[in-house]
Amino acid sequence: MTEEYDYDLVVVGGGPAGSSTAFTAAKSGIKVALLEKENSIAETVRTSGVTWIESIKEFGIPDNCYNPIKNFSFVSPNNEVTISDSIATAAVLDVRKTYRWLAHEAEKAGADIFVKININEVIKNENNDIVGVSGTGPNGKITFHSKVIIDATGFTSVISKAMGFVTQWKRFGAGAEYEAKVERVDPNTWWLMVGQEYTPAGYAWIFPLGNNIVRIGVGVGKPESDIDPTQRLKEILEKQLGPIKKLGKITPIEFHYGLIPNDGLSRKTVFNNLILVGDSAGQANPLVLEGIRYAIKFGRVAGKVASDAIKNKKTDADALYPYEENWRNAIESKINSARKVQDRWIGLSDKEWDKELDIIKELKTEEFLDFIKADFGLSNMLKLAVSHPKLAVRQLFNLVKGK
Ligand SMILES: Cc1cc2nc3c(=O)[nH]c(=O)nc-3n(C[C@H](O)[C@H](O)[C@H](O)COP(=O)(O)OP(=O)(O)OC[C@H]3O[C@@H](n4cnc5c(N)ncnc54)[C@H](O)[C@@H]3O)c2cc1C
Repeated sequence: MTEEYDYDLVVVGGGPAGSSTAFTAAKSGIKVALLEKENSIAETVRTSGVTWIESIKEFGIPDNCYNPIKNFSFVSPNNEVTISDSIATAAVLDVRKTYRWLAHEAEKAGADIFVKININEVIKNENNDIVGVSGTGPNGKITFHSKVIIDATGFTSVISKAMGFVTQWKRFGAGAEYEAKVERVDPNTWWLMVGQEYTPAGYAWIFPLGNNIVRIGVGVGKPESDIDPTQRLKEILEKQLGPIKKLGKITPIEFHYGLIPNDGLSRKTVFNNLILVGDSAGQANPLVLEGIRYAIKFGRVAGKVASDAIKNKKTDADALYPYEENWRNAIESKINSARKVQDRWIGLSDKEWDKELDIIKELKTEEFLDFIKADFGLSNMLKLAVSHPKLAVRQLFNLVKGK
């Protein structure tokens, strides 16, 4: 026998995008189900959890969910730069705590959360539009009928694939990291490590969480490089490369592995009765491959737009389009600029990375932060591209603004 449910909105995937969508939708008074395939929300961590204090405050994430960061260090094979701020602008999230807080906010607003539900099929009406999903739950087959469905399944984009709307991402990042206890670390400083020995395409990192705990990882751009990030992580730990040596004894606590799309904003994200949000929509800053703040921000927008459409009894692609319009206006041009920098970075040799760090040294703290966040305000870029005293910096920012 199939267990059957009826909801106004069904959100598939209990990551930051799904929980945030469920939160605003439930708050607006419609009947919402949030479905997660694992045994609990954030059972498996697949992310390093770096984000920005400004976003944390905007979302109301509690203070005990993150470790603040105010120094940003980069190392290349023969160069090093640290950019310091007087106050903390970045943060490393306690991912499990944060994601569970997001889901709890959705539950408090009235959403029903179902765990251990692995969705693998879509239900369509006579026009081939999605009107529900089904899969397996603790008691066997389970079906959810719904006016609108949200694909918040992340990289795998299970729902959009089952509808035949998307295929596997072609360009993506693969990352492996250990959360580990270390002997010595400055809790205010993150490290990004670049160059062939760390990774041939991407960067390696040390992100401190406080209490002598860090996340140490390696990211590899695909298809640019075929190396395995887990293997490379073990190698750089064994060699104690660069700042890793300073950490002293490293005792792994937990291993994390994940994939993040890096195909730009190539997907259409609204269809009749369906919205894609977060990684399924490809909403990530390509410079450092961070997507959590976009998943939360645009998840909240998706929940509001979907509930308005449901209340107006019109849930086709046109009615859901204000969601796509909102996120494209907010980030499309920034992401496109960031991709140009990423294309430049992905091909750099060790010597060229050493020089790139010299350029980064020339940036003021706020310029650096806007840059790494892909928060390219056009007027700021124009200023830097035209009047920065160093030619190399002018060239970098000319690239960003599109010359
Ligand atoms: C190695 C690595 C490091 C990263 N570091 C950072 C970082 O430092 N900062 C940052 O901002 N971003 C980072 N990211 C990116 C960030 O993790 C994602 O952008 C973010 O998690 C996207 O959220 P989401 O909710 O769209 O997807 P996800 O977080 O992937 O959540 C999807 C959820 O859907 C569930 N699900 C999947 N399929 C089904 C199904 N069939 N049925 C039911 N449930 C299902 C999953 O179990 C999961 O809980 C990193 C990514 C990787 C891979």
